[in-house]
Amino acid sequence: MPTRTTCPYCGVGCGVLARADGPGTAEIAGHPAHPANFGRLCSKGAALGETLSLEGRLLYPSMDGARTSWDAALDRVAAGFADTIARHGPDSVALYVSGQLLTEDYYAANKLAKGFLGTANIDSNSRLCMASAVAAHRRAFGEDLVPGTYEDLELADLVVLVGSNLAWCHPVLHQRIAAARVLRPGMRVVVIDPRRTATCEGADLHLALAPGSDVALFNGLLGHLRREGKADTRFLQHLSGVDAALAHAIDTATAAASCGLPIGDVARFFGWFADTPCVVTVFSQGVNQSSAGTDKANAIINAHLLTGRIGTPGAGPFSVTGQPNAMGGREVGALSNMLAAHLDWDRPGDADLLRRYWAAPALAERPGLKAVDLFQAIGDGRVRAVWIMGTNPAVSLPDGDRVRRALAGCELVVVSDPVAESDTMDLAHVRLPALAWGEKDGTVTNSERVISRQRPFLPLPGEARANWWAIAQVARRLGHGSAFAWRGPADIFREHAALSGVGNGGQRVFDISALAGLSDAEYEAMPPIRWPCPAARPAQERLLGDGRFPMPDGRGRMVPTPLRGPAHAVSEDWPLALMTGRLRDQWHTMTRTGKAPRLFAHAPEPVVSLHPLDAGSIVEGGFAVVESAWGRGVFRARLDPGMRRGAVFVPMHWTDRFCRAARANAAVNPAADPVSGQPEFKHTPVCVRPWTPAWHGFALGRVPLGQDVAAWCAAVPAGAGLWRHELASEGPAEAAHAALVALHDGPGTWITLHDANRGVHRAALVRDGSLRACVFVGPDAGLPPRNWLLGLFAAESITLADRRALLAGRPFTGAAPEPSVCVCHGVGAGAIRRAIHAGCGDLERIGQATRAGTNCGSCRPEIAALLAAHRVAEPA
Ligand code: SF4
Repeated sequence: MPTRTTCPYCGVGCGVLARADGPGTAEIAGHPAHPANFGRLCSKGAALGETLSLEGRLLYPSMDGARTSWDAALDRVAAGFADTIARHGPDSVALYVSGQLLTEDYYAANKLAKGFLGTANIDSNSRLCMASAVAAHRRAFGEDLVPGTYEDLELADLVVLVGSNLAWCHPVLHQRIAAARVLRPGMRVVVIDPRRTATCEGADLHLALAPGSDVALFNGLLGHLRREGKADTRFLQHLSGVDAALAHAIDTATAAASCGLPIGDVARFFGWFADTPCVVTVFSQGVNQSSAGTDKANAIINAHLLTGRIGTPGAGPFSVTGQPNAMGGREVGALSNMLAAHLDWDRPGDADLLRRYWAAPALAERPGLKAVDLFQAIGDGRVRAVWIMGTNPAVSLPDGDRVRRALAGCELVVVSDPVAESDTMDLAHVRLPALAWGEKDGTVTNSERVISRQRPFLPLPGEARANWWAIAQVARRLGHGSAFAWRGPADIFREHAALSGVGNGGQRVFDISALAGLSDAEYEAMPPIRWPCPAARPAQERLLGDGRFPMPDGRGRMVPTPLRGPAHAVSEDWPLALMTGRLRDQWHTMTRTGKAPRLFAHAPEPVVSLHPLDAGSIVEGGFAVVESAWGRGVFRARLDPGMRRGAVFVPMHWTDRFCRAARANAAVNPAADPVSGQPEFKHTPVCVRPWTPAWHGFALGRVPLGQDVAAWCAAVPAGAGLWRHELASEGPAEAAHAALVALHDGPGTWITLHDANRGVHRAALVRDGSLRACVFVGPDAGLPPRNWLLGLFAAESITLADRRALLAGRPFTGAAPEPSVCVCHGVGAGAIRRAIHAGCGDLERIGQATRAGTNCGSCRPEIAALLAAHRVAEPA
């Protein structure tokens, strides 16, 4: 029997069936009965089985680089925290946790920090993802509530996607919308995003607004709704702040001008919204990751409140979270400005209730530091000991180089993580081996409030242990053993569930007290369940549609959203706005997806996308330096007419391990939203200029060459035990060959061609008739087709003609390189174009001819784009 568990990646929270089928691998399928995905998985979820090997795992605790016992490591953590608190007070220590943690781990960490260390300096990397949505919910609803369900996306007649590349970042939700549109072709989709993303394929309207101008657009919508008499007078009785919010409504022409959009497009969107009662507005990081993120989210919510389109089938604002358990972290209060179970410092009696429930000796009396401020406090010595769990802030936080310096200077850095090496782990004094997906046991909550079990199906490796266990062990050493005497995650879940019902006569919607009495066996078997599920009241599917809000006055609040620009405006010196974001097939800092070679086939190197008219002398396929006042990165350049002029985009995933020169967040400004504390990842003023290296290179071998081999080195696994390197540098071109030779020291014959005049160097190692390694260096990016070379490695032996072709640097067959579109079946753009030319006129027929898009479906928007491009080039 496969194990029923949950995908560990995005906030969709898909159900997964997993069955271990050998060391480090597992059979993976979508769970047909899970309400999030009904059997679907995206490319990342489908490749989970390829990410489970123990290669690169941290299996034993270590201190100062030397292996140690758990006892010794935990003694050091407890003593270090106790000593720091004794000398400098409770706010001199901190925990930095993660939306990757299970709810039980999260609960334990929050309880330790806020209840027993006496500090609210516990924040989560969810701060980077959806803190603005949380703040907006609390301002408008009185509590952090997502009113709707995924079903609403299928029931809506209009789906508005704001700052959300749903096709790449929440692919299964995108697939659900696409399937609903097939059944109801009248359903419309509007995408609001400065970039033309894969989500725009098939959309009815794309509004490529200026970065940061969302508030103006939705204030304009508010004005239009009022003028058109679309305010719901019945629902307005349940609201406060209506006039104050409407005072910021603007006319359509002003909104269009503020957003840099054609007025006709804006008017069309406003008209559709006004005339469509069933409208869902999905918003995500493009809205949240802004110094005005909370106002942006409230501007969206205002439009729904004014029209009463909230909490009813097919209607409502819908924040989708980036991480698998961002919601769980919110439920247990693991953000520095929240208390557990949606209790609130600002609500009289709540802190006291929690103090008594936990029997906490030192409940934190006020909110703590939010992520950006927390790392600034580490940097300036206010925080002297930090415990980081399941996240990689040296890569993921803005102003990344400053974060590294802060951690490097911190007196005590403890890192709990499954991986042995990461940019953050490298800075740790104490390393604690944590469990990975497939080993963890607990619960997660997805974006539609559904709590699902993550169940283990793999043996625990080495001495890796659950985070909640390590936290409880430290608490015991600090003298709080009885408050942390859990036998397992079920005990923690019951405590968490019971707390949600304590003193809760309906004031707090988050109430899962009906689950507080689960036996161990019932917890183990628990099916996905949506909250609220109170013990004393009926459960609710959707929230707020009845006009009851968990506010002191019982009313929802329309929040005034004045226009304001980004924290740092573009200028003559920094003329472009940098946005960072996700790729389709990668997750965060690639510690897991980086183990699945096929997930690199779609984007094997870090790329900056910019509009051709902003490129100056930067050429397609060349290199570009993206530099801000805070830092810089170097990326392969892609000239993309789908980018809005003035905006550039880089993916956030690349690390020291995969491409040291291309850590996007090193250049991101540390400005944050004053309400939510969420950093402004979507607007950093930068300049972009060409970088012309002395040589370009490409190398394939069975070991990574290391980042020192060239100034720019993107090294990724390429399958069959190979590492693929894209290289460029100003130093000696022979370095790459020398490194490859050193790493492949052994039998075999190197065949080489060296043409100093042209700056060309080609070398291949042949052993027992088959290709073992190769390196190509040239003065420009015109290097051999990568897929051809990878194909030669796959062959049992290479022919004489192949050897000649290797030295010639090109296949004699004329094969051309082509980007991989469908990573499940390894189908490139060329094969899809050929199928289209052969008469395959829709996705289904292309799928039948090539298999592209027939597994996870994540690539279907890109196939649709190829189809659309063909139709434009060759109209019927
Ligand atoms: Fe995982 Fe993909 Fe589902 Fe997100 S959409 S939970 S990444 S399978």
